[in-house]
Amino acid sequence: TALPRLGHTRTTCGYCGVGCALDVLTSDGEVTAVRPAADGPVNRGHACVKGRFAHGYLRSGDRLTRPLLRRGGRLEPVDWDEALGHIAEGLRAAVAQGGPDAVAAISSARATNEENYLIQKFMRAGIGTNNVDNCSRLCHSPSAAGLTAAFGLSGGTDTFDDVENADCLLVVGANPIEAHPVVGARLLQRVLRGTRLIVADPRAVGLADHADVHLRPRPGTNVALFNGLAHVLLAEGLVDDEFLRRRAAGLAELTALVADYPPGRVAEITGVPAEDLAEAARLYGEAAQPAIVYGLGVTEHLHGTDGVRTLANLAILRGAAGTGRGYGVNPLRGQNNVQGASDMGALPDLLPGYGKVTDPGARGRAERVWGVPLPAHPGLRIPEMFAAARSGALRALWVIGEDVCATDPGSTGVAEALEACPLVVCQELFLSETARRADVVLPAASWLEKDGTFVNFDRRFQRVRPAVPAPGQARDDFAIVHAVAAACGVDLGVPTPAEALAECGRVAPIFAGISHERLEREGALAWPCPDPYGPAEAKLYLDGFATPDGLAHLAARPYLPPGEQPDDTYPLILITGRRWAHYNSGSMTRRSGNIRLDATERLDVHPADARRHAVREGDRVTVESRHGRATMRVRVTEETVPGQVFCAFHFPESHVNALTSGHADTDTSCPEYKVTAVRLR
Ligand code: SF4
Repeated sequence: TALPRLGHTRTTCGYCGVGCALDVLTSDGEVTAVRPAADGPVNRGHACVKGRFAHGYLRSGDRLTRPLLRRGGRLEPVDWDEALGHIAEGLRAAVAQGGPDAVAAISSARATNEENYLIQKFMRAGIGTNNVDNCSRLCHSPSAAGLTAAFGLSGGTDTFDDVENADCLLVVGANPIEAHPVVGARLLQRVLRGTRLIVADPRAVGLADHADVHLRPRPGTNVALFNGLAHVLLAEGLVDDEFLRRRAAGLAELTALVADYPPGRVAEITGVPAEDLAEAARLYGEAAQPAIVYGLGVTEHLHGTDGVRTLANLAILRGAAGTGRGYGVNPLRGQNNVQGASDMGALPDLLPGYGKVTDPGARGRAERVWGVPLPAHPGLRIPEMFAAARSGALRALWVIGEDVCATDPGSTGVAEALEACPLVVCQELFLSETARRADVVLPAASWLEKDGTFVNFDRRFQRVRPAVPAPGQARDDFAIVHAVAAACGVDLGVPTPAEALAECGRVAPIFAGISHERLEREGALAWPCPDPYGPAEAKLYLDGFATPDGLAHLAARPYLPPGEQPDDTYPLILITGRRWAHYNSGSMTRRSGNIRLDATERLDVHPADARRHAVREGDRVTVESRHGRATMRVRVTEETVPGQVFCAFHFPESHVNALTSGHADTDTSCPEYKVTAVRLR
């Protein structure tokens, strides 16, 4: 009897943005176990239920294994040549009728850096448009805008190791115990050893049980809360005067603005008791090493970028950034490679490395490397792509690894956009809600089947290696983009992921010191890393911030109300978020053992609201907003407060995003997922 072929592959988790290093054990090409790597730079021997156990989807019977083409209203299996020919013909027709800007691509935070680099290169250098975006538009685009304006670079100010050394943690709008469990556990360990903890979140998220102060602002009032905290810091002299004098700008304007945000007024706006606000400000202000960790509860708002800016104000007032001691302002990324997708320039206004498409210098560098002139006007953001499709201006849309029909807000409008667009191409693992509406569906490889790199939430590049082959005719996104380009007569060069990353370093100097070869040798490399022989864990901003004047910029931003408020017709506010066992639309975790842990969508309702609406635990309710309706079962819990309900978005059949509105961050178009007025039926 032949012995099984055993394998062992070190790779990086493809679920959340923590970036746990995993050892994947295989037998005859099948995954048998996944173990957290003891020397993983962030996880250090730990992993959560998703990374360790949610791999059964790889061999799910409904995995896409052949290209599909819509004929007579039905999707039928075809070979790759026919599918690619149809796509190339459709792209040519779209460009002939509407010019290059009639084509758009939605890239993926589930794809590797190299895949993201390649798709944006094809759109810009091959098609001639900047119409490329990724799902950071829907989650952390306000972080990119806000942190760049405040400090100069689009990433957290510190590594997670630095954050862990803080003596006071301010965790805002994040539920790391469920959404980023390995980080949540590391934070909790610090708190149990004496680190002070302030949690600011409307819900009783896991860490709140251990908080010194739990602030529960009304959804949509973050800017007032942060201005109130700044008010107390300034009023009580809990600021770093020398830092503010030498390294910051905007103090006079901020001081004048936050004079209007005393704790009493902030209490009226936010519902946070004045004494709790003052206590939190003193805890943060008196700490020697305060750190801020935040999530989508800060960004997914009508004024999400203002939320990031006013949160960053607190760190600047305390001189807690750019000191080399860490502790600054650090976003927790939801998807595994949402940082990398943006780093690689899968954005309509930014090239790889965050050079603006409107900047002749940055554009010229890319033009020299790619050998073609590039468009100088920013492209469409994701919501604008859907609007353009509905109006007829967009004639071809390529969606890579995102189920936009299930996860984007106002899903009814998204479906209408796909219906109206003459060519929709979708590459996916499964026949998602989006794939069902596509004209061509391409079978893609998953993160356990591909080669490249991811960037985690603290800017670390780590290697992704194939542990098992993709099934049937499925290909990785890198190969698919090359194949589509070739069908269109475009040679993208860079035949391997290693060559793609090397070329990216020539376009974007902040990545020039990072290569596959160096990652193999050193394990993980954080950007900025411009020098192949320089340090890989550079501390940010020691010699000045990366803003044009080298200063950290305080922002004077007034509180403005969210897009929706409760009223007599829609008396409750719905917040959406994640639960511990599942990931996004559940396409992977629901096809793995995790479904036994958490089998259905639930609406968290406070007992007082349950009594008022005469609903009980387990009842099926219809939730209605001004935009749509969804159906799910009730969970009665004190994790919410009266007047607020909560659900996740892991079960597309519940149609949660039929409820959410078109309100979006005024700076970045990030949807306001966190504030929707609803009623129960
Ligand atoms: Fe780590 Fe996140 Fe993967 Fe869990 S989902 S194993 S916390 S990277």
